[in-house]
Amino acid sequence: MTTNVTCPSNAQALAWATKLLANLSDSPKLDAEVLLLHVLDRPRSYLFTWPEEVLSEQHYAKYKELLEKRCEGLPVAHLTGEREFWSLPFYVNNSTLIPRPDTETLVEQALALEIPNDAKVLDLGTGTGAIALSLASEMPKWQLWAVDYSDDAVLLAKKNQQRLDITNATILQSDWFTNVPKQRFDLIVSNPPYIEENDVHLSQGDVRFEPLSALVAPEQGYADIRHIAKNALDYLMIGGYIMVEHGYDQGVGVQEIFAQMGYGNILTIKDMAGCDRVTLAQKLQ
Ligand code: GLN
Repeated sequence: MTTNVTCPSNAQALAWATKLLANLSDSPKLDAEVLLLHVLDRPRSYLFTWPEEVLSEQHYAKYKELLEKRCEGLPVAHLTGEREFWSLPFYVNNSTLIPRPDTETLVEQALALEIPNDAKVLDLGTGTGAIALSLASEMPKWQLWAVDYSDDAVLLAKKNQQRLDITNATILQSDWFTNVPKQRFDLIVSNPPYIEENDVHLSQGDVRFEPLSALVAPEQGYADIRHIAKNALDYLMIGGYIMVEHGYDQGVGVQEIFAQMGYGNILTIKDMAGCDRVTLAQKLQ
């Protein structure tokens, strides 16, 4: 028996979904658009060019299924399997953080450093590979090494490397520095876990579906940054830079850690929202 479903147009489907998500998401309209485009497998312009086009039964059913999951809180990036970062498409899954616009601040700052054309750069805790692969694509002569503790993250980052056709990056499994080849880098970057264990925002929004190991660190969120700052001294050239992302209220704390370890030229940079987000420093001797 066939059922006759009355399918909505693109515009109707968007309006309905936006309303449905209004109290569940910070960006209901955008979520509705991204999910519909994913179902239709079309570029962004499609919805504005063809608002009256009616969805097929199959597409409508798939759209409703995704919206149901979104209503349960699942991140849009997990439903579509990807997220854009630095204008590049990255595959995403629940083994890593979903790349965030905040982290583009770190990429921007790394690209602005005065380091050699053929710089050696290490990314610790690469996750999807967002930072390392963005840097590698901007700077084809840089040599990137990117590591992650999680085997699943390493697989994902390698898949992203292949998709983006990046040849100047080596991705491997490592517990911070343990498997990093002994050599001196011009720059070490990281977006490590830095959230305090009891932070209320861990029970809100997308972070509920991300691995805690990528989010939370002991010692008020500073443990991994401390570990990285200490060990990076053995892997940086003299004059090399260290740069980490951190919480909006951790700028001074990270500066103190870098100062204690003997780094100089310490500087904290704000993200687009005006919050302290990235601190960098130089190994002076
Ligand atoms: N900025 C992220 C958040 O607040 C955390 C990222 C991280 O721990 N590295 O959700």
